[in-house]
Amino acid sequence: MGLMYPNMCIGCMQNSLPTRKGFLCVDCIADLPFNHHFESPYNNELVERFYGRFPVHYAVSLFYFMADNAVQKMMHAFKYKEEKYIGQQLGKLLGENFRNHLSRDLPELLVPVPLHRDKLISRGFNQSEIIATSLGEVTGTKVLPNALVKLIDTHSQTQMSRTERMENLKNVFAVSEKSLPLLKGRHVLLIDDTVTTGATLESCARQLLNNGAQKVSVACIAMAK
Ligand SMILES: [Zn+2]
Repeated sequence: MGLMYPNMCIGCMQNSLPTRKGFLCVDCIADLPFNHHFESPYNNELVERFYGRFPVHYAVSLFYFMADNAVQKMMHAFKYKEEKYIGQQLGKLLGENFRNHLSRDLPELLVPVPLHRDKLISRGFNQSEIIATSLGEVTGTKVLPNALVKLIDTHSQTQMSRTERMENLKNVFAVSEKSLPLLKGRHVLLIDDTVTTGATLESCARQLLNNGAQKVSVACIAMAK
């Protein structure tokens, strides 16, 4: 199929791309909704999302996620069409931002939000781990892909209220026995692909903080407004 069709931009599905490894045309790249969190990583709208929930050290994401925008299409292709290089490129971009803006406060460990085992088997990869691995290659930070375990396969939570979602997430994640000594006293960066309510990240962060991590920061590719 790749031989018969030109490589199309996944943002607009109109413009063809000059290289096979790209995924957005220049127009879509120019229109990307960057959110500038790296300019104020300790005090921004994503940090505010965790106020009163857990003491986040800093929180950053690259883009706003909106229905049908190029970011949504990019993340969809990455997660559901197995376009792993998209996640790798975005992880690298996150890493470059860390190097440029947070070089004096880099995390000591990268921990991706885990998938439940069944989901991991059906998808074949954990998107957050791919992002974490590429980020870590740029900053030279160690990734602990199995530090957190998702014990319960949560169903789609869009029909639930925030209280119900929190209740549902309370015992969903756990820290693996093996990683306990590694987390102790460390600054951990928790990594997810997209943040919406922040309930998943809150639940993971609480587990890390309750199990010896000294501080937890958050990095995502995209944030829903
Ligand atoms: Zn385009």
